[in-house]
Amino acid sequence: MLNVDLHCHSNISDGLLNPSEVVTRAKFNGVDILALTDHDDISGVNTAKKIAIDLGLRYVTGVEISVTWAQQIVHIIGLKIDVTNIALIKGLATIRDVRKRRAYDIAKQLLGVGIPNALEGALKYVTNFNLISRVHFARYLVEIGQCINVQEVFRDYLSPGKPGGDIQCQWICLSDAINWIHGAGGIAILAHPGRYKYTQLEFDALFNEFKQYGGIGIEVITGSHTPAQYEEYARVAQYFGFLVSVGSDFHCPNESRIDLGKLPKLPISLKPVWYNWY
Ligand code: AMP
Ligand code: MN
Ligand code: MN
Ligand code: MN
Repeated sequence: MLNVDLHCHSNISDGLLNPSEVVTRAKFNGVDILALTDHDDISGVNTAKKIAIDLGLRYVTGVEISVTWAQQIVHIIGLKIDVTNIALIKGLATIRDVRKRRAYDIAKQLLGVGIPNALEGALKYVTNFNLISRVHFARYLVEIGQCINVQEVFRDYLSPGKPGGDIQCQWICLSDAINWIHGAGGIAILAHPGRYKYTQLEFDALFNEFKQYGGIGIEVITGSHTPAQYEEYARVAQYFGFLVSVGSDFHCPNESRIDLGKLPKLPISLKPVWYNWY
């Protein structure tokens, strides 16, 4: 059975390893098919692809796009995208601008609870000056001893209702994300549905709308799901007729639940997104 990992991050977004290190680690961990899916940025793809080819890994281009749907963040994975597609490149740049504006608001809210210079602190962790993430703030809050780890930061700060997290932030709409992916020749996958805090009615509407716009798959096995959620979203995939995707959502050794290529096997009753790739 192929070892497939179609969701992970490098320091082009909020991971810690550079794209070449991510691919090398994936190879070491036994991955056969890999996609690097940085948030809202595809500038790591060419390096990753080159190293993958050198190491004899099958490589799939990818990105994870930040969307607002029913007032919450939803992540859409685009796979098999043409990374020279101008509409996609320009669209992702607009999201990174939203990230920059949000970073000022996060820093202001943290200042309000007595944490000064958070933007400067977060920027120390940003290697790609085009993209700033809440994770960069989280690493800085750990550095100054505000919390003991990144998970604790997201529990106490940066999340809705918490300092640094109550920010009216409009990402792009679901149809735009899917259209950009399709315009670049790719396929759209709904990332880690188990992370969203929707009602059952909202979830059904999300799955239906995603499908209506041409989304073809959902993540079932992901570092963001519990084993119970693997089963729950396997049922959702079968009910809605989605293909299933798998990805560690690896960011770095200490912060991620699952390492690259260390995912549980996909049940054979499910149809994977890569069923017709090779
Ligand atoms: P952003 O895209 O800047 O809003 O940041 C979202 C990122 O924060 C996610 O992609 C994860 O990498 C990270 N994240 C979100 N929630 C948590 C959490 N509870 N614990 C650790 N990391 C988290
Ligand atoms: Mn992330
Ligand atoms: Mn995500
Ligand atoms: Mn991710």
